[in-house]
Amino acid sequence: MVADDQNEPLGGHTIVVTGAASGIGLAVTRRCVAQGAHVVMLDRDDSQLDAATAGLGESTSTAVVDVTDEAGIATAFEALGAVTGLVNCAGIMTPGDVTTVTPAGFARCLEVNLTGTFLMTRAAVTHLRAAGGSIVNIASVAGLVGIANAVAYCAAKGGVVGMTRALSADLAPSGIRVNAVCPGTVRTPLIDEAMRQRGGGDLDAGIAATVPKYPLGRLGTPDEIAAVVAFLLSDDAAFMTGAIIAADGGMTSV
Ligand code: NAD
Repeated sequence: MVADDQNEPLGGHTIVVTGAASGIGLAVTRRCVAQGAHVVMLDRDDSQLDAATAGLGESTSTAVVDVTDEAGIATAFEALGAVTGLVNCAGIMTPGDVTTVTPAGFARCLEVNLTGTFLMTRAAVTHLRAAGGSIVNIASVAGLVGIANAVAYCAAKGGVVGMTRALSADLAPSGIRVNAVCPGTVRTPLIDEAMRQRGGGDLDAGIAATVPKYPLGRLGTPDEIAAVVAFLLSDDAAFMTGAIIAADGGMTSV
């Protein structure tokens, strides 16, 4: 592995981040760059990706990739040498219960959140084998507990949790660590529609109804999730694999 430095614990690392154009993926990108890494930012959203690179300079490169597109993923990896980390952060939220989510909506939720994580990991493994490395999957509290009106999302994120454990067993002999972070509710564009539905059409009412579920009395921030991800990418977490870490203000502990 790359030697760590106390001020730049990710110095010398090359880390691929999916969903890097917004929210948690962008916060992960910024934190990894601040800690000395080069970040390959992948996202399906062209214009948002361009805007996201502002101020990040030469520490990042970008590619427009849909994580459900196996051929597109392969092309993106062809341009890369050895990478030391992969953060599977791209995701979508599909609000609804078993009567309101359509079969197509259910399938798409699994395709992006779960199959996308599988396809990206599959493509990254040979690049990571050359360097050793760390994979961090962004799951969710929805992968740990049941959440009303989120049947597809809970199924997908529960799958990410299970797959993380299986991958950790498969890839440990290659020196690749695989862990998952399960964020509680973090204010990003992803959750707005679900919050609106919870608030009967009113976003603020939805957020106000959500906060009491959190013992710390507030929602999380993208930076607070990025800090946990950066730790798992670094050699400080060298003895951690297969861990499922809740970063959720205590939501799943009560
Ligand atoms: P976001 O909407 O701000 O960012 C998600 C990014 O993923 C966007 O830039 C989007 O373009 C990209 N994306 C979506 N589908 C894609 C695809 N098929 N291929 C490539 N890129 C794609 O959302 P966020 O809140 O930052 O979510 C990031 C991750 O964190 C997701 O996996 C989400 O499920 C998870 N998460 C979020 C919360 C929360 O409360 N925000 C809580 C738990 C888990």
